[in-house]
Amino acid sequence: MIITVHLPMNISLGSMYMYKRSSNRRSPITSGFDSVRVRRSLVSLCPSVHSYSPRVRIHHQWCQMSQIVTDPSAPIVDATVAHPFDDPKADVILRSSDNVDFRCYKLLLAFASPSFFDGMFNLPQPADDHGTEERKDGLSVIPMTEKRQVLERLLRLCYPSTIVDPPTLPALEDVRAVLEATIKYGMDRLEQRVRKVLVAPRFIENEPMRVFGIACHFRLEKEARIAAKYTLRHEIQLLPYVLELEDMTGGDHHRLLEYHAECSEVARTVADIPIWIEKDSFVWFQCASQDVRDYYPLAISRGRELTTQCWWWDDYMVPASEDLERRPCGQTVLRVELIEKALKSSRLCPECGEKSYADIRIFSELFAKEVERVVSEVSSMYQPGM
Ligand SMILES: [Zn+2]
Repeated sequence: MIITVHLPMNISLGSMYMYKRSSNRRSPITSGFDSVRVRRSLVSLCPSVHSYSPRVRIHHQWCQMSQIVTDPSAPIVDATVAHPFDDPKADVILRSSDNVDFRCYKLLLAFASPSFFDGMFNLPQPADDHGTEERKDGLSVIPMTEKRQVLERLLRLCYPSTIVDPPTLPALEDVRAVLEATIKYGMDRLEQRVRKVLVAPRFIENEPMRVFGIACHFRLEKEARIAAKYTLRHEIQLLPYVLELEDMTGGDHHRLLEYHAECSEVARTVADIPIWIEKDSFVWFQCASQDVRDYYPLAISRGRELTTQCWWWDDYMVPASEDLERRPCGQTVLRVELIEKALKSSRLCPECGEKSYADIRIFSELFAKEVERVVSEVSSMYQPGM
């Protein structure tokens, strides 16, 4: 019996499988998943599916999906891919949604995906299954929802050789697609590897908001926290629209803005109330120039109060405070432009002059360290809401 079904877009093969697993583990897929909708869809596949045992039911789902995941209008291309997926000794074929065949070993798939592939390969073959399962070269052909490129990257991760030669994931879109597949197929160890790629410097330093959105989408708390901290390097109100904003809930975005606001407040306090300063021998505190000296009491650590600060020091601290409100992180006070502006002013003081260069370098490092310390305290309290 051929059943034509139009499933909702978010109901994929893996997520249907997750439905079966959901009583044991609340995965990122199932946590945002409407099991009632899935049950209704399964029943629409076959009205009697709800009466099957779990093992038979998943096999039934699998067989029915073979009629769904491959676009019937797409031309069947007998395309194969390069080594190792052209191995004549392989014992199963995975077919991408754009009809590319990958010859694989069940053992490697089962090892990478003990909950999905291992379970599927161990299912008994129903007696009435002849004629419904596609075969090629004597091997079972398993239709997959992923397109060729995503499937190839996913499968390469399953092979031991990729430990020393991992497949490239050049763009965040690639990371997202492979990450989704690892979650969908219960490939926990591979999922952890891809999650590390998600927060790799090449992505998170340049596009933290996109990484944050992807982490929110898959409810990855650790990665969301890391990405949120990297967004502090940017003025959040000026960040351009990215598609991954659609992955966040209103709550996710609201909590991120609150986190920024709290970090801005504590970071700016480091600049405005520098009671963390231990050393009073910096040149601007010791300046003896009568022409440019300015006096106002300044509290530093251990209750000490300084009365001398050469005026040019404010050319560093005042803009630093303003910048910290926009970008509350240590990197902000290390910006070359900020330091050079202050040094340019310092040259106008005959007493500070040359000495200011070395001292402002040392001071800015301590300043940045203190900003990072107070921001980290806020970060440790931040709850992305996963
Ligand atoms: Zn001076």
